[in-house]
Amino acid sequence: MNLDQSPLLVFYETTRACPLACRHCRAEAMPDPLPGQLTTDQSKLFFEDLLRFGQRPPILILTGGDPLMRADIFELCAYASSIGITVALSPSVTPSLTTANVRRLKDVGVSSMSISLDGANAPTHENIRGVPGHFAQTVDAVLMLVDEGITVQINTTVMEINADELDTVAALIKELKAAIWEVFFLIGVGRGKGLSALDAAGNEDVCHFLYDASRYGFTVRTVEAPFFRRVASERRRGRPAPCGPLYRRLSHGLRERLGEPREAPRAGTAGTRDGKGIVFVSHAGDIYPAGFLPVSAGKVPTDSIVDVYRDHAVFASLRGGDFGGRCGRCDYREMCGGSRARAFSVAGDPLAEDPGCIYVPLVEDVVGAG
Ligand code: SF4
Repeated sequence: MNLDQSPLLVFYETTRACPLACRHCRAEAMPDPLPGQLTTDQSKLFFEDLLRFGQRPPILILTGGDPLMRADIFELCAYASSIGITVALSPSVTPSLTTANVRRLKDVGVSSMSISLDGANAPTHENIRGVPGHFAQTVDAVLMLVDEGITVQINTTVMEINADELDTVAALIKELKAAIWEVFFLIGVGRGKGLSALDAAGNEDVCHFLYDASRYGFTVRTVEAPFFRRVASERRRGRPAPCGPLYRRLSHGLRERLGEPREAPRAGTAGTRDGKGIVFVSHAGDIYPAGFLPVSAGKVPTDSIVDVYRDHAVFASLRGGDFGGRCGRCDYREMCGGSRARAFSVAGDPLAEDPGCIYVPLVEDVVGAG
C-alpha cells in the first residue's frame, strides 16, 4: 500500500465525553461533550470523504472519550459500514458496555474492539483508571466480548508505574484469549504530562520483552514506539536480546508463567508512524497526524481529509524522513523514523530526534570518523 496516498488507519475521536478520568488520558476526557463536537451529519460527510482514498478505504477506528457516550454511535457505525468502510470501536469499560449494546454494534458492522488494561492487578489498574472495581469489570468485559465473537485488542500504556508488571499482563492477555496486545509508550500530552515515561534503556528492554511475548499466540503492536520494528528486525536476524535489568525480570517472569515460547513471533511490522499510514480527527474535526501529535493541518468536513493527508506540508514532512539527530542519519529511518509525537512533546519539533530510542545509527560512526 502506498502510504503517501492513503493511510491504513483513521482514528476519529467521536467525543471527549467519558465517565472515567484516567491519569494518562490524552483527551483529558470529562463527563460531558465539549462544545464544537462534530454532529451526526458532519461525521457522515467526513466518512463519505474517506471513500476518495481509493478502492480499499482505510479502517475507521471510533475512539474518544468513550464513543458509547454518543447517542448516535450506532447510527454512525451503521452508516460507515453501509458505504463500505470497516469500523472498529474503542469503548471505555463502563456500565454502557453491555452485552446488548455489543450485539447492536455487531449488527451494524463492528467486529473488533479495543479495551484498555493498564495493570496486572486491581491496585495498579485502578490507580491509573481511578475507579474502584474497574479491574474486575475490565476482565469481565473482555471475556464477554470474546464470548460474543468480537476480535479483542488489549491496549496497555507502559510507564514507570506499571512496567514491572508487563509479564503478568501478557499472561492475562493469553488467558483472556485476546487476539492483539497494543502497547502504548507514554507521551507527555493531556493528563499524561503528570506521569513518568520509561527512559530509552527501559524502552529498549520493553521492546525486546514484547518481541518475546509475541511468541505466545497473540499479535503484539506498539504505539509511539516505532523502534519496536527495529528491535524485531534485529532479533529476526539473530541479535541476542539485551541484558538490561527490566528485560531480565520481564523475560524470566514470562517464561515462569507461560513456559518456553513455541510459536513464531507475531510482532506487528507495518511501516507506519504518525502521519504516515495514520491520521487522527479530533472531536471538533481537527486533522492531526496522530492523537498524540496535536498539530492541526485542517478541519473536517470543511477540508477534505484526503487532500490534507496527501498534500499538507505537515504530513508531507512527516513522511519525508528528513529528521533531526540520530533519526535523520538512521539506517532504520524508513522502517521506523521515530515517534514524531515524542519528538514534538519533548523538543517542540515533530521532526526532531526521538529521545525515547537508545539506538546509535551505524552511519554516525562513519560521519564521526570522517
Ligand atoms: S534512531 Fe530514530 S529512526 Fe533510528 S531506530 Fe531509533 S527512533 Fe528509529
